[in-house]
This record gives sequence, structure tokens and C-alpha cells, in this order.
Amino acid sequence: MKKIEHIGIAVNSIETSNILFEKLLGTPCYKEEEVASEGVKTSFFMTGPNKIELLEATKEDSPIAKFLAKKGEGIHHIAFEVQDIVAEIARLKEEGFTILNEIPKKGADNKLVAFVHPKTTNGVLIELCQEIV
Ligand code: ZN
Repeated sequence: MKKIEHIGIAVNSIETSNILFEKLLGTPCYKEEEVASEGVKTSFFMTGPNKIELLEATKEDSPIAKFLAKKGEGIHHIAFEVQDIVAEIARLKEEGFTILNEIPKKGADNKLVAFVHPKTTNGVLIELCQEIV
């Protein structure tokens, strides 16, 4: 894995939280994007080299809606940038991790993504992401 690509935070309202995070970070949201297939609306902030992703549910049965219902707002996942997502999925499977989607899917921000089940990673949902070139 190359680096932490971003930290994902589940929020009840992107609209409200964008204002909060603009104040907190002193920088405007630079991008908003809906991923309809995942039932999620996202917004992105940069702080120096680091990226924060806010996630709001757009459907009641989406993974973010379930997370919010169970745990409330807060850190939802840590995303790592990888060079070759297919190879990384194979490596992690081999190491005994549970991959939630073994076939990478199109995520927000022009990325192919796959998730590692938190039950195999000390309770932290891990996202692998590879830039689509
Ligand atoms: Zn993410």
C-alpha cells in the first residue's frame, strides 16, 4: 500500500457538515459527488497532502445509513492508495482478510475501490483505492 489516501467520515447531512468542515479546516470543499450505486453522497476536502471524505446516505438501506443507525456520525473508514488493486485484493485474501467486494467497483473521486471487512481489521473498515487513469 502506498499511503493513506483519505479518511471517510459518516455524517447525517453533507450540507451542514460541509459548513462545519470548512470552518474547521479553513478550506472549502473542492468536490461533491453522488455514487448512486452505493446510495451515498460525498464531499471532499484537502488539508495539505491529506484528504477528508464526508459521506451522507441517500438511501435508507445503504451501507452508510446502516452505519449511522448503528454507530452515529464518526469515522467510517480509512482508505489506502494502492498501485494494483486486483493484486492487493489477492494478497490480502491470501493473508486471511475478508474482502467485501472481490471485484473492484467504481467509487467516488475517479477511483476503483474495494473494502476489507472490519471484523478482520480490528474493527476498522479499510478501503483500497486505485486511481483510474
Ligand atoms: Zn472513501
